Amino acid sequence: MTDPLRQPRVESHGRVGQVDATVVPRFAGPATFARLPRLDEVSDIDVAVVGVPFDAGVTYRPGARFGPAHVRESSRLLRPYNPAADVEPFAAQQVVDAGDLAVNPFDIEAAITAVHAGARALLERAGRLVTIGGDHTIALPLLRAVAEAQGGPVAVVHFDAHLDTWETYFGAAYTHGTPFRRASEEGLIDRSGSMHVGIRGPLYSSGDLRDDAGLGFRIVHGTEMDDIGPRGVVERIRERVGDRPVYVSVDIDVLDPAFAPGTGTPEAGGLTSRELLAILRGLAGLDLVGADVVEVAPAYDHAEITGVAAGHVIYEIISSMASVAGVASKTAR
Ligand code: MN
Ligand code: MN
Repeated sequence: MTDPLRQPRVESHGRVGQVDATVVPRFAGPATFARLPRLDEVSDIDVAVVGVPFDAGVTYRPGARFGPAHVRESSRLLRPYNPAADVEPFAAQQVVDAGDLAVNPFDIEAAITAVHAGARALLERAGRLVTIGGDHTIALPLLRAVAEAQGGPVAVVHFDAHLDTWETYFGAAYTHGTPFRRASEEGLIDRSGSMHVGIRGPLYSSGDLRDDAGLGFRIVHGTEMDDIGPRGVVERIRERVGDRPVYVSVDIDVLDPAFAPGTGTPEAGGLTSRELLAILRGLAGLDLVGADVVEVAPAYDHAEITGVAAGHVIYEIISSMASVAGVASKTAR
């Protein structure tokens, strides 16, 4: 007889997957990401999804500290098979929800230290981390941990309306507008293989772009999307990163506010969620060593628009990771 208190899960190829939504309705039970098992429920982990509820580094609207819980809650509808990528992301690799890292909400440098330590500890258990922010400050300690695990700098593909390579803001060196300058200065980023995608909106001056190029980034501007489309963006990315290990950082404000109103620093004229998902799907086969999806601020969201977009972004990234994880869906079924 089945235990009525046990949550039946989709299990395939020895991997423990999502709570079975044909038995337990999607709206029931705790919201781990995509209703996946917790870190302590399985062993041999390929991908750990972890939250970092931190937003002390923001320069405009606060609230991304509530991002991890909101994205998890908005991820209940994700299903086991991704037809666009023809992959079962949670069967081709073992994916878990590692909960949230506890970080100091008042002391940015203490929080950075804690994220670094937490990510390093998780990377001893899991092959790859996919982090839900939190504001973009957390990309710096995440890159520290990933570069250590990789034994050297990684190519960064950064999706954002903003460069996030500024020097300081109000004298502060560690904010959500500076992580990629610090990471480049610290030697965490492969300066020959990194790029921004979706940059748009007003800058302080043209010098911002010159400084940014000096830090090792090339740019696919948001204004180029209509001309080259998602396929052209994928070609530019693949050409730039080659076979380097790649870290993907997605600031949800790369999407137009129509597709992601729930964020702290919105700019008009952004990508559609369809374009972003297509680009992420096009990264399959690259050596994706980690990712983050940041800047979801649910207080400005409506009807989970931003949360659902972020959930699908994570799903597409994990699907692209699965393409090199070993068991492709064609053999899993
Ligand atoms: Mn941004
Ligand atoms: Mn950002």
